[in-house]
Amino acid sequence: MAETLKGKKVVVIGTGMGGSSVAALLAREGADVTVLERNSYPGGKAASFERDGFIYDTGVHWLARGNKGPMGEVASIVGTEIEFVTLDTAMEFTTGGHTAVISQNMDEDESLQNLFEEIGVSHENREGAKTLFKDLARERTPEELEALDEVSFSDYIARFVDDEQINRLLDGFTGMYMCISRRAASTGEFILCFSTQSKQKNLCYPVGGMRAVPMAYLDAMQSLGGELRYSTPVERIVVEGGEVRGVDADGFIPADIVISNNGVKETVALAGRHNFPDDYLSMVDSLRLSFGAVSVKYALDAEIVKAPLACYFPDFRDPELVERQAAIFVPVPSIADPSLAPPGCQLVLAGSLAPPGLEEPEQAKAVCNEMLDRIENTMQDLYPGIEDHVIWKIRTDTRYIAEISGRLTGEVIGVAQNRHQVGNKRPSSATPVRGLYLVGADAGGRGVGTEMAVDSALNLWRLLRNE
Ligand SMILES: Cc1cc2nc3c(=O)[nH]c(=O)nc-3n(C[C@H](O)[C@H](O)[C@H](O)COP(=O)(O)OP(=O)(O)OC[C@H]3O[C@@H](n4cnc5c(N)ncnc54)[C@H](O)[C@@H]3O)c2cc1C
Repeated sequence: MAETLKGKKVVVIGTGMGGSSVAALLAREGADVTVLERNSYPGGKAASFERDGFIYDTGVHWLARGNKGPMGEVASIVGTEIEFVTLDTAMEFTTGGHTAVISQNMDEDESLQNLFEEIGVSHENREGAKTLFKDLARERTPEELEALDEVSFSDYIARFVDDEQINRLLDGFTGMYMCISRRAASTGEFILCFSTQSKQKNLCYPVGGMRAVPMAYLDAMQSLGGELRYSTPVERIVVEGGEVRGVDADGFIPADIVISNNGVKETVALAGRHNFPDDYLSMVDSLRLSFGAVSVKYALDAEIVKAPLACYFPDFRDPELVERQAAIFVPVPSIADPSLAPPGCQLVLAGSLAPPGLEEPEQAKAVCNEMLDRIENTMQDLYPGIEDHVIWKIRTDTRYIAEISGRLTGEVIGVAQNRHQVGNKRPSSATPVRGLYLVGADAGGRGVGTEMAVDSALNLWRLLRNE
């Protein structure tokens, strides 16, 4: 326990993965923690809801490392347990008329050979492809990773191989990990996501749905003496003389430390732009966000999809597919945890990327609707007859993501992990306002979505313990 935090009054704004985990970590240090959440439920982008016996997620999630990554580390520090189900087969990937069943052992020669055979990598490209995957999986020092942070992932792949199928496979992986294009993505960040996942072989899903993770942290925080208030939006972060004083949320709540889980751009607006220096404001204004997403959530009266996690990437050189389909990511949470659907039924989530911006709401709505129609077409093509088994279906767009996470826009991850915004170029959790910190996917962490948000919490906890 760090003496510096004992009895300190800490307000955490938001119960996303970042907010809930940092709140538990600081309560464990003896800080006097109050968590304020604008929604009536926990989890932000990682929330789950119940309907007719199904428990479905707000997002379209699968976890890269589960208890072998930052989520497990926080759980063991704060004294809670979260159960994750690891599946033998990591995922089924279909592209260009080929389907590969990808195992958790992506760093092993035999698995790679099978993958290249099944996905249809041309024979002359297999040696290059193997060297590429071996290089992606090998362990690197933080300095080696940093040297690759600014390299575009497309350029890095081209050093090893130029193969249509490998490119589509890695487009799919970049979309799943970072929700940006292969060209924009940082190589250092991709390697960190891929190498830790292939080393730990723990692609998994939490029992009870995604909400099980933030709920476990919030329960731990409360049992350590912290307070949680739902339906309590913070209207203003109060700053005086360059120092945080507390927040306005249904009255003034004083605090020594305020930690915002509400995105870096939104936090600056809540605290007032005049409280930040110009160079910080230009950095924040220039930050690019990841893509947004649309999803169709299917409650089915039969078990239609066989793979626990499927990814489909159409060959858009085919004019018919260009008109009709979308690249989709299809987790089936009820295969991992059958209690998420009534017996004999299935919960299937199908998501695709979409522009995050909501500047022109009508245009955004039209783009999202078109993407949602494409998802449904693609699901019908891949799983003929699926429509005959629908009990209910929910279509969500980028406005929905913005709404559940309290953000201005509906990005999937947060600040994009492009080559200018990762590692030491990512916004830090510390801000120029004394006592005001950021937590979550936008600041101070690395890795895949939810795990990056929890990594950010761990890094902030270390920082505050040492201050
Ligand atoms: C469709 C979709 C698919 C995804 N797929 C994956 C995946 O497969 N794997 C993966 O790891 N990640 C995935 N992600 C990304 C991941 O969910 C996010 O990166 C992560 O959950 C973000 O966590 P966060 O802590 O940054 O905060 P958020 O989830 O954004 O939570 C912020 C919280 O703050 C609250 N809040 C905001 N403003 C206020 C205010 N003024 N007062 C009080 N409370 C406030 C919000 O209500 C919310 O609860 C996906 C996301 C989506 C949307």
